[in-house]
Amino acid sequence: MVKLYGGVETGGTWCVCALGTGPDDVRARTQFPTTSPEETLERIVEFFRGQPSPEALGVGSFGPVDLDRDSPMWGHVTTTPKPGWQRAPVATVLRDRLNVPVVFDTDVNAAAVGEHRWGAGQGHASVCYLTVGTGIGAGLIINGKPVHGLVHPEVGHLRIPHDTGRDPFRGNCPVHGDCWEGLASGPAMAARWGNPPSELVDDHPGWPLEAEYVAHGILSIVCVASPHRVIAGGGVLQRPRLLPMIRDRPRDVLGGYLDTPMLGVDIEDYLVAPALGDDAGVLGAIALAQAAES
Ligand code: ZN
Repeated sequence: MVKLYGGVETGGTWCVCALGTGPDDVRARTQFPTTSPEETLERIVEFFRGQPSPEALGVGSFGPVDLDRDSPMWGHVTTTPKPGWQRAPVATVLRDRLNVPVVFDTDVNAAAVGEHRWGAGQGHASVCYLTVGTGIGAGLIINGKPVHGLVHPEVGHLRIPHDTGRDPFRGNCPVHGDCWEGLASGPAMAARWGNPPSELVDDHPGWPLEAEYVAHGILSIVCVASPHRVIAGGGVLQRPRLLPMIRDRPRDVLGGYLDTPMLGVDIEDYLVAPALGDDAGVLGAIALAQAAES
């Protein structure tokens, strides 16, 4: 009998649940808005109770989260500004209520695992999955493994160059002001221009500025982690004109310092759209559960 695995992606806006073995074998799937932790976790439990019991459950959560298996706070969201979710015990509630082993990671690491296993990162040892949407985050796979370390990477809070003469917007990160997320997330664009990015026309000056900020952040990731491929997801990066504009920037931003065709003539093969679309996270959560069981 085929072993089935559960995947959950608790994103800042939507929660997605699926049961199956991979992208070609999703037996059941649902999604609903992420509301309070109590209501959201109850809906996840309800979904899985209506299905055959999975061997294990993978959970990719928005963060910051505690990934240290030896910590009493393992499986909890920690310091998020999202109302009600501070110290929410996501993984432990699901483990105890559903009585299944739970593998817990960040939503962006789950998406990176999904794309690495089945999507745009296949065949590459080291991959970065970047999302620019409600926030900015990246999951990193280095030599086939998601990076955790001291906490987990929080690339959205990198500092990138901010010329206040050209862009006087002070940034909207509640902690840092003009960090990368504070300058270039969807809400930052909306606060700067008075309209959300979906309502900015293609020739709006916000787009070249956004391309420059995103390119700066990507180049910081490349300088530190040197991934073989960067997969660009999230609502803002779905704007069709934006990815080609970002691809034009790395050579200028780096001044030609890293001399590789992947950051030049072959950049279309380096900075790519996700192959799994919006399901990268939930499929990656299934992959995490499978990997833990095998
Ligand atoms: Zn910040």
